[in-house]
Order: sequence, then C-alpha cells, then structure tokens
Amino acid sequence: MNAIIFGPPGSGKGTYASILEKKLGIVKVSTGDIVREEIEKNTELGKRMKDYHDKGELVPDDIVIEVLKKRISEPDYAERGFILDGYPRTIPQAEALSKITKIDVIINLNVPDWIIIERLSNRRTCRECEAIFNVKYVKPKIEGVCDKCGGELFQREDDKPEVIRERIRVYQEQTRPVLEYYKGKIPFAEFVCDSPDIPPEVNVEIILGKLKKMGFL
Ligand code: AMP
Repeated sequence: MNAIIFGPPGSGKGTYASILEKKLGIVKVSTGDIVREEIEKNTELGKRMKDYHDKGELVPDDIVIEVLKKRISEPDYAERGFILDGYPRTIPQAEALSKITKIDVIINLNVPDWIIIERLSNRRTCRECEAIFNVKYVKPKIEGVCDKCGGELFQREDDKPEVIRERIRVYQEQTRPVLEYYKGKIPFAEFVCDSPDIPPEVNVEIILGKLKKMGFL
C-alpha cells in the first residue's frame, strides 16, 4: 500500500506515520525529516533549504521533488510500499508525484487550530532519531532525553510561536488546495481529532480500522 498522510503542521502526521510504519511494515518517507537531516549535516542542499525552513516557509518545489524522487526510487520502497509524511504540499508536488508512482489512499487528519498550537508549542524532537514527544501530552520518561535512543530532545526552530503561525498560514494557502486536487482521484480515509490528550496509539487504531474497512489491509 502506498499512502499519503495529510494534515496541517502539528496534526500528528509524523507520529502516526512512524507507528504505521512499524505496524504495517511499510516505509515512512518524511520530507521534513530529510530537510532537517540535510540542514543538520550542513550539506550544499541543506544550505539552500535552511532559510526557508527556519522561517516556516516551504522549500522550493524543484528541490523537494528531486529529493523525494531519489528516495522512493530505492528498491525497498517499491517492494514494501510507503507512507508519505509532509509531501505533497503544493499542486506541482502532487503532479510530480503522479508521474513517479501510484498512491492508493490518503489518510486525512482533521485537527482544529487550537490543538495544533497546543501540540507544536509543547513539542520536543530527538536530535538523533527524530522521535517526537510533547512536554504536556506525550512526556519522555526523563526530561530532555529520548525514551527510544537516549538522544537529546530539543525544540525545533520552526516550533517557536511566531513561526508556528506562519506555518499554519502557509498550510492554508498552499497545502490545503492539494486536498481538492486529490478529491475524486484517490480514496480518502478521514480521521477527526478533537482532543489533544488521546494517546497516538489509540488514534492509530482508529485509522487502521478505517483502512481495513476500505479494504486496504
Ligand atoms: P515538517 O516536519 O513536515 O513540518 O516540515 C518542516 C519544514 O520542512 C517545512 O516547514 C518546510 O520548510 C520543509 N518541508 C518539508 N516538506 C516539504 C515539502 N513537501 N515541500 C516544501 N517544503 C517542505
């Protein structure tokens, strides 16, 4: 199964995609993780992306499309199927994707703005393995330390309040229209989240139930 997990920043895409990756044996492809990796390693690509990333803006389409093409053409991805997290975010990205591969289903996360802000402003990310925690809702066992690998937890540059507002604006303006593009082309598994403190594993079970009902599992 090739899936896109779609939703605003802070809707839980990354967390749910990681759980689905393990449960279903498919590969998670997160363009946000790839962007951060390149920036952290200070590669040529990373240098071209850093300013956009830190301001909460989208990295230009040509760069992201190139990066994604390289990843999903690796044999592992075609064999196991994948879940795209954070891609596509613009119509040209969606059009480019349709030329590379076939998508079976869109998991669409519907989350109100207040939950997004609550989640993002309290989010902490592991510097080593990119695992996601939340100082209010998904606390690590030891403050500042990743439960999974012992790495240092930090607040992403783009999880600061003024950048969060910009990311939500960018989502509404550039990314929401992607949903319209897919309507009628690809089936949607709709998920509604109306409370910030339901454990991610519980929400993922609901998503899995929908995918089963739709015949994907
Ligand atoms: P995320 O972790 O998915 O919220 O992504 C973090 C940041 O990486 C975004 O705010 C963008 O600057 C950049 N980014 C990730 N995915 C994309 C994409 N598909 N297109 C453009 N920029 C992206």
